[in-house]
Amino acid sequence: MSIARFWRETPRRYNLGGSKCTNCGTVYFPPRTVCPECTSHRQSIGKMVPFQLSGDGEVLSFTVVHEPAEGFEMQVPYVLALVKTREGPVLTGQVVDISTDEAGIGLKVHATFRKLREEGRAGVIHYGYKFAPTEELETAPVPRGPAAAARTEDVTARDRAPA
Ligand SMILES: [Zn+2]
Repeated sequence: MSIARFWRETPRRYNLGGSKCTNCGTVYFPPRTVCPECTSHRQSIGKMVPFQLSGDGEVLSFTVVHEPAEGFEMQVPYVLALVKTREGPVLTGQVVDISTDEAGIGLKVHATFRKLREEGRAGVIHYGYKFAPTEELETAPVPRGPAAAARTEDVTARDRAPA
C-alpha cells in the first residue's frame, strides 16, 4: 500500500470517520461523497460533511466462524457480527472479549481498535475496528426482534446446563 493511500484510509480505519448528509441527516460509513437517500443526488452535492461515529451499536445478527480467513487462524472460533451503530450504518466486524456462546442478538457493543491480522511472512500488521461488549456479561442478552427465534436452541441448551 502506498503511503498516500495509507493516510487517506487511516481516518476511517482507526476512528470510524464517516460522512453525514446535511440535507437529509443520513450517516454513512464508509463515507460517501453523494447521498443516495436524497431524491436527487445533486441535492447532496457539497452537503456531505465528515462525521465521527460513536462506535456504539447493537448486534443485529452474528455467526460463529470456525474456518478462518487467511491471517485469522489463531483466533478461531470467533464471532463475526453485523452491528447496527447508534447513528445508523451497519458494520461487519469481529466481536472480541466474549466466548462464542455469549454472543446474542441485541448485545450492546462498542468499537475497539485492535490488530486485525498479520499478512504473510513480512509480518505486515493491519489494525482496524473490532467490537467488544459494552456491559459485563453476567446474564445472557435478551433475544429481540425477528431474528430472536434463531436463539431458541441456544437458550434451551443453556437452561439444560447444570448449574
Ligand atoms: Zn441526503
